[in-house]
Amino acid sequence: MKYETVIGLEVHVQLDTKTKAFCGCSTDFGGQPNTRTCPVCLGFPGSLPVMNKTAFAYAIKVALALNCKVQEYTKFDRKNYFYPDLPKAYQISQYDLPLSRDGFLDIHMDDGPKRIGIRRVHMEEDAGKLIHAEDVSLVDFNRTGIPLLEIVSEPDISSVQEAYEYLVELKSLLEYLDVSDCDMEKGSLRCDANVSLRQEGLKTLGVKVELKNMNSFKGVREALSFEIERQGNLLDVGKPIVQETRLWDTGKLQTFSMRTKEEAQDYRYFPEPDLPPFIISAREIEEAKAAIPELPRQKLVRFMRDYGLTQRDVKILIASREDADYAEECFKAYARPDVKPIANWLIGPLLSEANTRNGGLRVLKVSKDDLLELVSFVEKGQISYLSAKSVLTEMIDTRKAPGAIIKEKNLAQVSDSESLNAIADDVIKENLKSVNDYKQGKAGAIMFLVGQVMKKSQGKANPKAVQEILKRRLSDA
Ligand code: ADP
Ligand code: MG
Ligand code: ZN
Repeated sequence: MKYETVIGLEVHVQLDTKTKAFCGCSTDFGGQPNTRTCPVCLGFPGSLPVMNKTAFAYAIKVALALNCKVQEYTKFDRKNYFYPDLPKAYQISQYDLPLSRDGFLDIHMDDGPKRIGIRRVHMEEDAGKLIHAEDVSLVDFNRTGIPLLEIVSEPDISSVQEAYEYLVELKSLLEYLDVSDCDMEKGSLRCDANVSLRQEGLKTLGVKVELKNMNSFKGVREALSFEIERQGNLLDVGKPIVQETRLWDTGKLQTFSMRTKEEAQDYRYFPEPDLPPFIISAREIEEAKAAIPELPRQKLVRFMRDYGLTQRDVKILIASREDADYAEECFKAYARPDVKPIANWLIGPLLSEANTRNGGLRVLKVSKDDLLELVSFVEKGQISYLSAKSVLTEMIDTRKAPGAIIKEKNLAQVSDSESLNAIADDVIKENLKSVNDYKQGKAGAIMFLVGQVMKKSQGKANPKAVQEILKRRLSDA
């Protein structure tokens, strides 16, 4: 039997505010357990929540960037349940009047773009953290009450790869909006995946399973793949799919049942009496709109058009907004129609230096002027590319200007024929086999000899000059 995969994702993002959603406690990660708490987030009777304005503004910004309709009238509700890490025994969330609905996110697959509907974006608060030690379980309430955004997609996603692309694009969008650090390891971005199968061509949806507790993109992929196969096998032999919540076991690489699916009525939602409903004004919406920067997709298209770079290169350069801004500063300062040489430096040596330092291009603190100066040394043939890479490392480590380093380390490229002739003669004497190969028509052998001269000159010889000298010498002899 042939099945179609249907996936809908619920993503939770921690909003990067200084204080919690409804109290003044710090949201900093970690800290001594239970020190970032107060009567409000610990749910003491008689304490009153106060809405965090920044969190609310961030939520509207995200909703707009996801093309949602921001609702004029929105309210908060209590979602009641007993969890040991949520001492109020309810979570402040939004039920029937979320702050926004009906948006979309376009994802870009190899065979073209696809629009994934966004059902709703709403605000809620996070729970604390349980720490299970040998024979005790401990609870840390520091995270309790941190503002979360829940972004719920329509079941428009039809494959594991599409789910992955959706998450990648959503994460990049959120990073550009600067509303969350999106650090999955710290739990700032979490995903529940709903998945069902249906017979190819059928319109009705199959029974879905909700996969919880995935804290990496890899986990989402693996869990979905496993689940699609599991459901297919059941359907093949005519067994029903049970609607339930399953967890992904990262050790055993399989999903297992956590609980059969709860229904909305199980939560006994009712309006949060301590927070009045909110009227979102046109002005607030305008302000949020104004705070939306150029988004990744627009930037990609513009960089390809304005700088004539390939999609592959641009994707790397705009992975973060900071890197993209830096790249653009450099391109502008370079002031030539073809910025490819600068792009190559950024994508190659600079990003690899940044990676070893676990950061983006900015962590290198190489000013655009210093970078352009370094590149111009290479372009004018004053130092070799190889030396330039070591100068770059030195620039990063010592903050010195490229010119100073080149002088200090005596790296200026040697092009004068006298010293190069001498080295070339030595290399010819020492590598008779390659010399013979070359003479018998193996043109490639010359590159080996060039390499040897470069080595002997400690990378300072000008490779073009070396090649000419060698060719001349070998045709004379
Ligand atoms: P619940 O009330 O169980 O949370 P919702 O209908 O609110 O379910 O949907 C939650 C998420 O599940 C949404 O992202 C939605 O797109 C997705 N979803 C709903 N039905 C299905 C289905 N049959 N197969 C896959 N995903 C689904
Ligand atoms: Mg759900
Ligand atoms: Zn608090």
